[in-house]
Amino acid sequence: MSQSQIRTRLAPSPTGDPHVGTAYQALFGWVWARKNGGSFVLRIEDTDRERSSQASERAILDSLRWLGLSWDEGPDVGGPYGPYRQSERLEVYREHVQRLVDQGDAYPCFCSRERLAELRRGRKGAVTGYDGHCRGIPPEEARRRVEAGEEHVVRMKVPPEGECVFTDLLRGEIRKEWSTVDDQVIQKADGYPTYHLAVVVDDHLMGISHIIRGEEWINSVPKHVLLYDYLGWEPPVFCHLPLLRNPDKSKLSKRKNPTSIGFYRDSGFLPEALLNYLGMMGWSMAGGGEKFTPQQMVDSFRLEDINLGGPVFDVDKLRWLNAKYIREDYGPGELVDLLQDWRINRPTLEAIAGMAQGRLRTLGDWGPLTSFFFADEVDPDPELLLLKGMDGDDSREVLQMVVWELERLREFTAESVGRCLRDTAETLDVKLRDLTAPLYVAISGSTSSTPLFGSMEVLGPDVSRMRIRRAIMALGGMSNKKAKKLDKRYRKLFGRR
Ligand code: GLU
Repeated sequence: MSQSQIRTRLAPSPTGDPHVGTAYQALFGWVWARKNGGSFVLRIEDTDRERSSQASERAILDSLRWLGLSWDEGPDVGGPYGPYRQSERLEVYREHVQRLVDQGDAYPCFCSRERLAELRRGRKGAVTGYDGHCRGIPPEEARRRVEAGEEHVVRMKVPPEGECVFTDLLRGEIRKEWSTVDDQVIQKADGYPTYHLAVVVDDHLMGISHIIRGEEWINSVPKHVLLYDYLGWEPPVFCHLPLLRNPDKSKLSKRKNPTSIGFYRDSGFLPEALLNYLGMMGWSMAGGGEKFTPQQMVDSFRLEDINLGGPVFDVDKLRWLNAKYIREDYGPGELVDLLQDWRINRPTLEAIAGMAQGRLRTLGDWGPLTSFFFADEVDPDPELLLLKGMDGDDSREVLQMVVWELERLREFTAESVGRCLRDTAETLDVKLRDLTAPLYVAISGSTSSTPLFGSMEVLGPDVSRMRIRRAIMALGGMSNKKAKKLDKRYRKLFGRR
């Protein structure tokens, strides 16, 4: 393959906060494209209509730009293979689904939700979920039912036996028994494609040469390889990056570590330090240099040098690297510019002043009263994080439900936060005052501070939620198992799907 044909892509789903894992994949894809004089493409995978939002798409693009990454093609900059938003490519997917059905490689499935649920229940422990019930419907009859408007999805046919063999650039040959793979849905009842179909069609039509993405997608590759085969296309090179991990080696999760790029921006990390740190995840500069620019990474990067031993995303190490940048790359005057860009600027100070005014006896009270706005972390006394009359376990659960409710807020203002906390208190049947007392402490580190809702607005959603998560950790944290159980209870209680 000639160098100019190297095309990589980042394909985020706009369903939440921009995640450091997304930036990590973006960096490696970007570096590989730059290294080869190729192109880096940004494609928005918004086929999940319920969970996708424009706000999330905007936040993802903004945070990647904040990090200093850029793309040659994408929904905002256009390009020869657009549109770059999947919701604008539905016709393309429909054509391909139809082709697969016509070829006999896919079929409409009319099974009801109830039947499928029943199937799942009855097959506990078995690997495959779908029993191929609609595979046997004669194509003529299936077409008639589709034309009559009967609700259906479309599934791809997966061979009942044999195995799929594919190559991952970092892992070599990978094999998977077909009998463990389901007849995957490729088009949903609403006519939208599923991820599996759309990703294959787009990677092919957009001329992607290397799929560089997280390891969590490796299990999907057999289905993708089969689709490439059905469609008569050559699959691209697969390169699955090792998953980022918490210091305890578990998969990086926001309950244990801040994962949202916005958190790092709002807590005062420098974009160049964060990007540099992400470059150290699974890869290292020849000679062991730890501080390097994206261009230096491009110069010495080789995909095959990526190390699969689970890279640990350690915030303390990142802080160390960040300090190095602050110390070495900025003079005092430039540091003031940085601080102003961050939070010590007139609009933010005015917002804080409005809240602090009533509590200042002298101007000198400003420092202690408002220091939590200018801190990366606060250090609350766990005793003060307990809700009135509750022990650590119960308090943790309440705080976790607060975090989940705050995650749902589209806009994060004093008013919306106040409304959210009031509704949460009501649903949980606790007094608002009893709920806000530990939150004051979680957010500001003390019992007397500026008003809670407004302070949270100034700190922003990422920092506010992280401080509450840290409060949960200060109360002993929550295991995955407990969080799962609580999540069920929460959904029921709050009527969330
Ligand atoms: N839309 C998927 C995601 O959200 C992309 C997976 C892929 O890169 O193929 O991560």
